[in-house]
Amino acid sequence: MPRTELSFRDSVDLMFNRAVALVDLPPGLEEKIRVSNATYTVRFGVRLRGQIHTFTGYRSVHSEHMEPVKGGIRYDLAVNQNEVEALAALMTYKCALVEAPFGGSKGGLCIDPRAWEEHELEQITRRFAYELIKRDLIHPAQNVPAPDMGTGEREMAWIADQYKRMNTTDINGNACVTGKPIGGGGIQGRTEATGRGVQYALQEFFREPRDVARTGMEGDLDRKRVIVQGLGNVGYHAAKFLSEEDGCIITTIIERDGALVSHDGLDVEDVHHWIAQHGGVTGYPNARYFEDGNALLEQECDILIPAALEGVINMSNADNINAKLIIEAANGPVTAGADEILRRRGIEIIPDLYANAGGVTVSYFEWVKNLSHIRFGRMQRRQEEARHELIIRELERLDSYLGNAWSMSPGFKSKYLKGAGELELVRSGLDDTMRAAFDSMRAARDAKAEVTDFRTAAYIVAIDRVAASYRAKGL
Ligand code: GLU
Repeated sequence: MPRTELSFRDSVDLMFNRAVALVDLPPGLEEKIRVSNATYTVRFGVRLRGQIHTFTGYRSVHSEHMEPVKGGIRYDLAVNQNEVEALAALMTYKCALVEAPFGGSKGGLCIDPRAWEEHELEQITRRFAYELIKRDLIHPAQNVPAPDMGTGEREMAWIADQYKRMNTTDINGNACVTGKPIGGGGIQGRTEATGRGVQYALQEFFREPRDVARTGMEGDLDRKRVIVQGLGNVGYHAAKFLSEEDGCIITTIIERDGALVSHDGLDVEDVHHWIAQHGGVTGYPNARYFEDGNALLEQECDILIPAALEGVINMSNADNINAKLIIEAANGPVTAGADEILRRRGIEIIPDLYANAGGVTVSYFEWVKNLSHIRFGRMQRRQEEARHELIIRELERLDSYLGNAWSMSPGFKSKYLKGAGELELVRSGLDDTMRAAFDSMRAARDAKAEVTDFRTAAYIVAIDRVAASYRAKGL
């Protein structure tokens, strides 16, 4: 166990090392998989508010065993090389685990996005994109960014447009970045995807009584008490779907400026609206407010969802965490030191590389959509409906023939008739991906007595797949 807290990069490597020790690899391959291939640092100037401002950005490529490489671009003042390299490594393992055919990459810009006006951010983003595009660090076949902390579909639209301006004859230009708005080549369900994936991950966890029994919980998600840390895109969607669709009670929401607590459950939509209006949770009238938000990570709950920054559960608070299950919606929210403590305490963790893989999974669908130049479902939907219509007509004949003895259930006809549109197909593909990846983690956990946690199991699956890809290539 590390005696002091490791850097994010070392934390990821330590988790990798624990798993790789249980995998049989040819000599040298372990090292090749672990190391980061390259990190590009760029400093560029933009003339804003009457002076030149210099910004520092990164794009790190961890593994090119499959191309393009994939991973978000983060806007945050704390962005640094160590962080983007750790996040790029996580992308490699994440993509392998959910079978998204990409290598791992990540980018970041040291900037406080709240400090700039929209038109200024556009200038900065376009300039950063220009620097990456001219080095093929943004390219539909080589490196495909996506949103991450501090960025969203607006920034992705600027990046796609910048790429297309610089590559006017590339018919696949839209596939150079994912997470774009629908009108700009995006896909339905991408914005909600990471939060939706967290929901599907938890649903799958609760389908297996053996997994649930390890936590001391019972039953399904209904009435489970949940703490969410960070109500950004991921935390908001996860909390919204879990409370509105699965019956979870969101007892606590922790934000930058404090935390809200309501033992009867917070109204996620209402809190989200308040934050959008007021910039934080302070002053929210329908719950108790606590200034020291992070102290509430230690509150008793069934499920703890860290959905913001890395390292929030660390060696200083891991002994006091009072959750039965932690699901890592953020990347790296539990440090290697804390992971060790939590494992010793028997607290189950659904690890980041699985739990937040919904985003990149739907990014994969968006990339495929962009390359095929057609929306999912466009060819089949009406044909599917026409076939369903045939069955409905037969059922209606039966209905009138049998009189009061039988009739179709209310709502069945309209539900059955409706062919799947893009959103339904995306959700179905995401759900299937999350279930299949969980199955592979379970199988890896069951296969060896030494594997006692899902994180090690997830790394083993990912390492096996990356190694298989290297072996197939003959490297
Ligand atoms: N930034 C997200 C992540 O960390 C999404 C990456 C992507 O879609 O490429 O997984």
